[in-house]
Order: sequence, then C-alpha cells, then structure tokens
Amino acid sequence: MSGRETPVMQQHAAAKRAYPDCIVFFRLGDFYEMFGEDAGVAAGLLDLTLTSRNKGKPDEIPMCGIPHHAAHGYIKKLLEQGCKVAICEQMADPATVKGIVPREVVRVITPGTWTDADQLEDHTNNWLCAVEIGAGEVGVALLDLSTAELLSARLSDLTSALSELGRARPREVLLYAEHDCQAAADVLAEVVPRAVLRTSQALTPAELVAAGARVDLAELEPIVARAVSRAVGYAHACLGDKDLPLWRVGVWNPSGVLSLDRAAQRHLELVESSVGDKRATLLAIIDRTQTAGGARLLRSRLLSPLTDVAAIRRRLDQVETLVQNGLVRASLRDALEDVTDLERLSVRASLGEATPRDLGAMRRGLRAAQHCRAALLGLPDEEGKKSLGLDMPVDWVGDLLERLDDALVERPPTQTKDGAVFVDGYDPELDRLATLRLSGSEAMVALETRLRQETGVSQLRVRFTRVFGWYVEVTRSQTTKIPASWRRKQTVAAGERYSLPEVDELADEIASADELFRARELTLWRQLSDEVVRAAQRIHHLASLLSVVDVASALGELAVDADYCRPEVDDSADLSVVDGRHPVVEKLAASGRFVPNDLALEARSEHLWLISGPNMAGKSTFLRQVALLVILAQMGSFVPARSARVGIVDAVLSRVGASDNLAGGESTFMVEMRETASILRTATSRSLVILDEVGRGTSTFDGLAIAWAVVEHLDQTIGCRALFATHYHELTELGDSSPGCRNYSVSAREHEGEVIFLHRVLAGAASRSYGVAVARLAGLPEPVLARARGLLSGFEGQLGARALRAPPVVEKQLDLFHAPTEHPQQAQVLDTLRELDLDRLTGLEALGLLAQWQRTLR
Ligand code: ADP
Ligand code: MG
Repeated sequence: MSGRETPVMQQHAAAKRAYPDCIVFFRLGDFYEMFGEDAGVAAGLLDLTLTSRNKGKPDEIPMCGIPHHAAHGYIKKLLEQGCKVAICEQMADPATVKGIVPREVVRVITPGTWTDADQLEDHTNNWLCAVEIGAGEVGVALLDLSTAELLSARLSDLTSALSELGRARPREVLLYAEHDCQAAADVLAEVVPRAVLRTSQALTPAELVAAGARVDLAELEPIVARAVSRAVGYAHACLGDKDLPLWRVGVWNPSGVLSLDRAAQRHLELVESSVGDKRATLLAIIDRTQTAGGARLLRSRLLSPLTDVAAIRRRLDQVETLVQNGLVRASLRDALEDVTDLERLSVRASLGEATPRDLGAMRRGLRAAQHCRAALLGLPDEEGKKSLGLDMPVDWVGDLLERLDDALVERPPTQTKDGAVFVDGYDPELDRLATLRLSGSEAMVALETRLRQETGVSQLRVRFTRVFGWYVEVTRSQTTKIPASWRRKQTVAAGERYSLPEVDELADEIASADELFRARELTLWRQLSDEVVRAAQRIHHLASLLSVVDVASALGELAVDADYCRPEVDDSADLSVVDGRHPVVEKLAASGRFVPNDLALEARSEHLWLISGPNMAGKSTFLRQVALLVILAQMGSFVPARSARVGIVDAVLSRVGASDNLAGGESTFMVEMRETASILRTATSRSLVILDEVGRGTSTFDGLAIAWAVVEHLDQTIGCRALFATHYHELTELGDSSPGCRNYSVSAREHEGEVIFLHRVLAGAASRSYGVAVARLAGLPEPVLARARGLLSGFEGQLGARALRAPPVVEKQLDLFHAPTEHPQQAQVLDTLRELDLDRLTGLEALGLLAQWQRTLR
C-alpha cells in the first residue's frame, strides 16, 4: 500500500507548490482531502476533525476531509474567510486506470470568481475588482464572472474610485499601485469591508499582454486597459484553460451617471440602512422584481442613476407602458415568477460547470420565457412594444427549450451518474441498454428461483457485493444439499458462498450493460451540454431582455400600487415637486399618516431653501425625500409625488451633522468639516446639495459661523440647488438676505403644553423651537420640565423667542440690552454696534463679531 501512497502525496505536493496561496482540495475517491498546513487551517475554519495520514510513520501528515458532494457549503465558508480554494481533481475514472490516477488542479475558486449560482446572493453582482492607481488617475475594472459582465472606467482620483467601489461593493479587490499600496489598501478596507484585498506590485508588460490577451484592450485608455487586464488575467488563471465568458462588456463613463459619493450612499440609505435593517432601505421598498437578474439590474440602476435625458425617458416609457397595461403586467409578472437565473446558468453552462439540475432549471426558465412572450403579445400598441425593445425580432431560444424538453426528466439530479437524467424515448440506444440492465437483474432473480428449485434450498440467495461481485449464499445447515460440483468461494459466519459459471456469465452481461448504459448516458450528456454551450450566449442575451422587462413591470407595479407618478425629466436646472413623499417613511415609520410636501427650486431665482423647525418636525425626512425623488427619477422610475419636474442633477451630495451619526475615533467635528469641504470642492451648478444640521458637531457659534459660510458659498459661488436644514434659528436671518435663498419651516403647533408636529413645510422661518415640549415627549421628568417652562417664560417675557437659541449667555445679553452703560466693555461693544455698516457686513463677519462681543461681555 505505502508504495502507492508516496506518488499520491507527490501529486499533492506538486499541486500545493503550484498554488501555494490556496487551500488545496485534493480529490481521493469520494472525498476532498486537505493535508498538512491546509488541513490545520481548514479544520479550524470548517470545524472538521483533524486526523493524520501514515500515523506513527516518518511521513505522518495532518489531514482532514469532506465528502465531495457537500463541498459547496465548505467552499463558501472558506471564501467568506478570504481563502482561495484550488480544486485538484482525478482526471480519470479510478476503475479504468491501472496504477496511479492522474490528478490536476482544474479550478481555483476565490470570493470574486465563484460562479455557483446556488451559493451566490441572487440579488447582487459578485464583483471582482481591479484598481490600478497611477499618477493623477485611477483605472477600475469590475468583472462578474457569474454573469459574464465586465465594466471599466477611468477616474480622476482615488476618492471618486472609492465612491464607485462603494456602489459596486466588490467581493474581492486586486489593488495595484506604482509605489506603495498600503495607504490605499487601508482606505479600501473601510469602503468595502466584506471584500478580500489582494495588493500587488505592477506586472511586467509581457505579463499584462498574456493576462489580457482575450479582451480587446486597444480601445481603452492605458490605465483602464491595465486594470482590465489584471482582472481578466486573475479570473482567467482561476479558470484553468477555459475561455472566459465576457458577454456584456462596457466602458462606463462616470459623467453619464449621477454621482453619489460614499456619504450620500450611506446617508440616503439606498441599499443599506444605518442600523442594518434591510427592510428600511429605498431598494427594499421599491423592489418588486420577480427574477434574480431583474433584482440585480434594479439594484445597479438605483446605485447608478443616469444623467442623460433621452435615456432616462426611454426607461420611463418602459415603466409607463406597463403601468398603462395592467392585465399584461399581471400576466407578465406571473410568468416572470418562474424565470430562473438564466444569466448565471448560461455562464455556468459555458464554463462546463452546469449539472443536470442546472439544465433542468434552465429549461424551466426558458419555458417561463415563452409565457412572458405570450403575455407581451397583449401589449396593444407599437410604441409600447418598441419601448421594451420588442419591435426587433427577439431570440427566445425556443429550439434549445425543445431539446431540453425532449431530453430531460422533470427533475434531473445534481449528478450525471445517477442514471436518471434522460427521459424514456429520448435515445433508443440508451433505452435498449436500460432494458438490458434491468432484464439482467430480472434474469438473476429468475436464476435464483431456478437454483432454489433444483437444490431444494429455499434459503438460497444470489447476492452481490462490491468486493466479490455476484455469488450464491447458502446457510450452513443447508450446505449438504449443494451439489459437489459447485465451487466454494468463501466461508462466512452465516454459511457458505459459492460461485457458479451461470451466475458469472449473467453477472458479466449485467456489468457490461451497466457500463454501456453509463457510457451512453455520458455521451448523450456531453452532446446536450455542448448544445447548451453553443446557445449559452443567446440565453444570456435573452436573460438581459427578461431582466429589463422584469424591472419595467416591477416599477410599473410599484407605481400603481404605491401611487407614484411619472416625473418630467429635462435639461433645466429646476426641481419642483407637488405633494412629494418619502418612499420609505410613508411605508414604515409614518404609514398611513404621511404628510406630503411641495418643493420648488429654480436655478435662476430661488435655488436654496433654508429649512428650520424644531427637532422631530420632519426636516431630515423632507431633505432626504427630495434626494430620493431625484435618484428615483433619474434611474427611470416613477416617483412618490402628485407631480414632479426634475432638471438633470449631476451629483447628489449630502451631509448630516456629525452628532446625527456618531462615528468612533476621529473627532466628529473633523469628520463633518472634511465631508463638508469635499462637498464644496465637488459641487457644480448642476448638483443637488443636502446639508442636514451641518455645523452641529461643534460649539454653537463655531457651528453657526461655518454653516453660514457654507450656505453663502453654495448660494453665491456655486449656485446649485440646495436644501439646508437647521434648528439654529439664527441662520434664518440669512434666508432673507439673498435672492437665491429662501426661508422655510416645518410647522408644529403647541397645544396645552404638548407639541403637535404637522410635518408641513411652509414659507417663512420657524418661530420657536418647542424644545421643552419635545423634551417632554422624550420622557424628561416632570419637575425638570416645570423648571424649564418657568425659565422659558422668563426668557420669553424679557427677550422674545429669538434670543433663546443663543447659548448660555442669556443673562449677560439681558444686561446688554437693559443696562447699556453699566460696564466699560459693554459701552465699547455698543459703540461698535452703533457704527457698524450693515450693508458691507457678511454673515460670517457678523458671527465673528458676535463671538468677539460675547467673549468681551463674559
Ligand atoms: P427632524 O429632522 O426635523 O428632527 P425627522 O425628519 O427626523 O425630523 O422626522 C422625525 C419623525 O417624524 C420621522 O421619523 C417621521 O416618523 C415623522 N415624519 C417626518 N416627516 C413626516 C411627514 N411628512 N409626515 C408624517 N410623518 C413625518
Ligand atoms: Mg433631523
């Protein structure tokens, strides 16, 4: 035995040498075994029992193993831990090989190159990403092997690259920089926490050519070409010598997409909510898709809304077609429910990874596609059909459906050799061999009966074991009845086993029928698989169409069901909404009692709204609902409003005051300022800026001064559409100081000491804060509230409500107004105040002065 083991372990050592960074799954019979270091790692991660091979011998080595048919679950776990797995297979049937079975690594599986549709998340792409950082530019390539997609882009800097990665959320990132990758790697780890990072130095030009040989790189910019070649090269190396399916290749132009930076993606809770509740995201609310491909398309549209008016209108036309044809929509959605993940199935087929069960799923999908086709015939007008691309002939891949229908049983097994893949009547030869196989066993039963009669041994049995083949077994007490001519084969506890020429002959026949049957089945399977491979790209194409139809009908369903309207999208710089709602809040937090609000921003006149109001009034909700409406409109969806007009927005930039989302570590004020600074740097006159309580992360006057300066800059220098929410009452002064700005407030009413939020956004600044009433809502003890009320009415009596928001200097301020000449410092302040030229004073300077006076008077 040990003479045979050494070569096996040599095979293993060779595989491990070739794939040192992988855990090698080494096929031995029905198991994948792991040895040595791999075994230690895998046993720990997979909770397997660690044993050893050649125990007690000099070549003892740790090992653990898993049954090969259960490998997927284990692979998934290892990938989740960032491991790579190299599958080392037996390259021939051990039964037919004399000596050692050849073994080879046929596939390397990594988090970003897995193609097992059963194990991947249906609704998200599984991106492998390559980032190439050059001098003053960044190349990004995104490759989803499971859907045969490749996207690439050139970005101007790492920050924009990170925003794109934030949208795509790759599973695995290959990072290349001319110099040191570490700094970039640190940031990346933060942006895509789930991704596995593999950093590396640049490849040589020759390596690049070798890796990228299968994609046309000539038309790409050099930095993009390098990123693409790296992603492709990496994936290609994982696949062994198989061709890389790349059927949807696109260069994406960041300016064709509404830019959503990382902060905005987070703040707006598009696909992930801040508290991790998947239901409370925009995607969860709008996703009515029926297919995995549709769900992926919807998600990517949501994260990459367009900026091209014509393209957006085409998408809106699709939705409108299905809004208007309710019956078609209903039957279409019924049919779509049965459409399987044809996109991923077609890719698996083309990689030779499809199982009989996969082809069964493919047939179900193609059949459902026919039902979709029938449903779509119900569209009454040509315009509607055209909007969905149905004016051109569509390839429904009906020929392959027919083939699969003819060939496959209703529920094919996961493995070919189960002998239960093809239906009766598909192949006469297979049927003949099946009968032979069956009749062989029947003949054996008949032989047994005859032998019982001939010998008079009623307990006589014709039996089969793997080791001995067929034999006749007789219990001990009966052996005397057995003719002397029978040859004794083995003595067991229960009796004697005999071999008979007659049994042997029949056994040979059965064995050969069995073997012939299996060979025939395999041949047929290969033929059918080849046909599927040839049709794979057509299926992929059809899958794309079905995804588009699915998204259109899902958005149509949403529009009807949740009462959305078609937005008017144009090239103006206006943004107006009548009765707009927050799509998520109206469904969850304020279900059934959501108060709609209007908005009217106009480029040339009123383009910046300053929204004040007490805490809990609905400021943040209003701000976000406007941003979400723009995103929905530009992704080509109807929007939650009575009517809406959206002049194209090139970027949604949004910030929340730091105390609203406390991040650990860095000073919240720093975070807030850094993010605000980046807004002011990136915003153009086409952007929509949402600032929610910016300036909160610091002391009131600092915060005010900064907030004020930011608003002024947005208003006068950038001139973009912007909404600024604040509970600093003081800022509302600014609302009336510039023609581009206007004050609005979210109303509330006080009733017997209770505050009632009306959630209505109305022109004019808020008059008071209702702070005490809110505090009561929050459960502050009654004595504290009573004291606060007392203080409040005292302040109000002497000052009017406005001075209340100035922080804890109220009493000094009282002095300032009521006893003007008591102290020299006050006199000095008052003199300055009297001489001040208000016409030449900016808001920021005013705040500066205020701060100075405050210091003086303290
Ligand atoms: P603010 O930012 O002014 O403190 P929020 O926008 O956070 O207030 O809103 C507080 C709560 O009020 C929200 O969680 C929501 O439940 C409710 N709300 C906000 N706007 C509306 C609205 N228009 N209609 C109904 N309820 C609303
Ligand atoms: Mg708020």
